Amino acid sequence: MFNMNNLMNNLEKQRTLTKEEFIHLLTNYTREDMDYISDLARNTSKIHFGNQIYTRGLIEFTNYCKNDCYYCGIRGSNRNAIRYRLTKEEILECCKLGFELGFRTFVLQGGEDLSFKDEYIVDIITSIKEQYKDCAITLSIGEKSYDSYKYYKEAGADRYLLRHETANDEHYSMLHPKSLSLKHRKQCLFDLKELGYQVGTGFMVGSPHQTMEHIAEDLLFIKDLSPEMVGIGPFLPHHDTPFKDEEKGSYELTLFLISILRLMLPNALIPATTALGTIHPNGREQGILAGANVVMPNLSPVSVRKKYELYDNKICTGDEAAECKFCLQNRMKKIGYELSVSRGDFKKISN
Ligand code: SAM
Repeated sequence: MFNMNNLMNNLEKQRTLTKEEFIHLLTNYTREDMDYISDLARNTSKIHFGNQIYTRGLIEFTNYCKNDCYYCGIRGSNRNAIRYRLTKEEILECCKLGFELGFRTFVLQGGEDLSFKDEYIVDIITSIKEQYKDCAITLSIGEKSYDSYKYYKEAGADRYLLRHETANDEHYSMLHPKSLSLKHRKQCLFDLKELGYQVGTGFMVGSPHQTMEHIAEDLLFIKDLSPEMVGIGPFLPHHDTPFKDEEKGSYELTLFLISILRLMLPNALIPATTALGTIHPNGREQGILAGANVVMPNLSPVSVRKKYELYDNKICTGDEAAECKFCLQNRMKKIGYELSVSRGDFKKISN
């Protein structure tokens, strides 16, 4: 039988485990194991990032979405969602404020909004890059064609976030309508890699019907993709979705998985997500202490914040960008970390 400490030490050394080993680790961990692995992960994170936490200014620029993911509050068929989209000028205003607050990465995230044609996205990227040459742009706008991704990259986009959501086909079909496929989602991720983006993937912890076997498959997929960024957060139900009565994901398992991911990908950019801060008041601090190294304060105008409601009780929907930044700065300071004023790019290490 497996010994838990051996498994965690092997993970640190080999940066992966077998599927069976992952399942054993995920099924049997105790409070002591959480402490043990988070010490290993935090030390690894310290080696690569010191006490510096990278920040990304998140701009949620549209909540229109053509897709109908069963878990998501902004799914196309949610008639109760109050829809909005920001104009290019409004997006640039967010960047101006963000730049003044010290952000050097802007993350443009949104639903799959067909009214943002590629030309318009490229115009927005070009305008941001003209005004903020030293800043990185991360896109998180869903599944697009290879040519579209190429077009955005050539315009100056640096990074792309696209969570695979689950690496198991059957589970994927329990979370999404037939129009969406895991095969295509994965293809997008490999296209983005090929195009030279810093690529982020990830999944929700505790999404409905998820098993430990699925999570082990997620980890092995992530190992295979070798992304520069990995974002995970607990699944949280939204009252206007088919999953409204489902259980939320586990806070502890999310922290445990952040530590596992840090050991698998020592220099990856791993955020302590808003969902983690929503499920527990100190979730983001605990995420950092478990091995994460990125926070993503919200730069969207307060007037639209509440409308980008992916799940119930999302935090920071009433705070101005500056308040969000200072709140996070204080939270990080309390646990001995500092917000970094840098682009916070992925840096390769020799093996
Ligand atoms: N449309 C883009 C995409 O599909 O990648 C980006 C926006 S999408 C809303 C961003 C992420 O929110 C998803 O990848 C999903 O993992 C997460 N999300 C959506 N609904 C959620 C929920 N109920 N609980 C936790 N996370 C959720």
